[in-house]
Amino acid sequence: MAFASKLPQQEISIFSVMSGLARAEGAINLSQGFPNFDCSPELIQLVHKHMQAGNNQYAPMPGVLALRQVISQKIKSLYTVDIDPDNEITITAGATQAIYNSIQTIVHPGDEVIIIEPAYDSYVPTIKMCGGVIVPYVLRAPDFKVDWAAFADLISDKTRMVIINTPHNPTATRFTQQDLQQLNDILAKREDIYLLSDEVYEHLVYDGEPHATVLQFPDLYRRSFITYSFGKTFHATGWKMGYCIAPPMLTAEFRKIHQFTVFSVNTPIQHAIAEYMQTPSNYETLPQFYQQKRDLFLHAMQGSSLRPLPSAGTYYALFDYSAVSDSKELDFAKHLTAKHKVATIPVSPFYTKAIENQVVRICFAKREDTLLEAAKRLSVL
Ligand code: PMP
Ligand code: GLN
Repeated sequence: MAFASKLPQQEISIFSVMSGLARAEGAINLSQGFPNFDCSPELIQLVHKHMQAGNNQYAPMPGVLALRQVISQKIKSLYTVDIDPDNEITITAGATQAIYNSIQTIVHPGDEVIIIEPAYDSYVPTIKMCGGVIVPYVLRAPDFKVDWAAFADLISDKTRMVIINTPHNPTATRFTQQDLQQLNDILAKREDIYLLSDEVYEHLVYDGEPHATVLQFPDLYRRSFITYSFGKTFHATGWKMGYCIAPPMLTAEFRKIHQFTVFSVNTPIQHAIAEYMQTPSNYETLPQFYQQKRDLFLHAMQGSSLRPLPSAGTYYALFDYSAVSDSKELDFAKHLTAKHKVATIPVSPFYTKAIENQVVRICFAKREDTLLEAAKRLSVL
């Protein structure tokens, strides 16, 4: 090549690899995180309605106002926090673009960014594209908990950003209020460190526990970008719709970049979601909906030697396979796909230095018959 690659070591994402393998092997795909059931017919009708009504041209750059207003109302009712739809909410092309823009807004060459590993796969390449330096805090099985004193030791003069993700993909753990309080206390000493809080699974929390959000910590929020995904919330990952909440000064900087990454996102879908969100039960029922799927799958897996780790949030669960194999995670996931016809995701690719915990991730956002058939296939192990 006659130019230097910006991402010389970057491989094809593990989601594409495992979904491709699932197709090639005719396996049940519990790997990539997406539902195998459709989104609400009412929501599809609403998109149709808004297309027919002529809402087919560019949306305002920050997003359709009605959608930003209903998001603000949702936040008020769920978290009792006031967020200004004009100056604190931007509608994006999925959480991925919101994450990209947030990192681009803050990180300059040489800046250090602390990430918590295993980390969702878009953070590292985006930081690299900004010339940032990745400083990983490493979580380990079985509980994947942050020791905040050890975390604080990673902070240096060059730290410019911290990225957190709760509920956490791929470990299915969640931060508590105490976790966020500890982070709050650590960052309190530093005005020059910004926070990206990826909360795409805010509605996927189980066992009656509330979602702990950065929105409720004013000293964290004033330095934060918080990212969300309508794909997760409304079973429509293919629509690539999401949003970013940040205080006015950060939103203004974020939008400078947003205007030149997409300018604005899908107009009729924004109008449709704005109308659909007028009915809060459309998102408030998600914990029960997914908890039932989680419990059905875990129950069906009781006969398997794959041992589940607790899933407190997201639509994933980790399974420890140490009782049946000492292979590396990627090899074991490939073996499960080829031999048992169930595709899963190894966790090792979510670390910058390959760490093996002998776990694989399954996605339980699937129809009951799919989950039961997958559990039957895995129960021979
Ligand atoms: N962050 C996390 C933690 C995710 O799991 C995902 C996707 N599944 C995203 C961001 C990206 O969301 P979107 O599909 O809306 O871009
Ligand atoms: N977030 C989804 C997952 O974790 C997939 C996202 C993607 O395919 N890029 O599986």
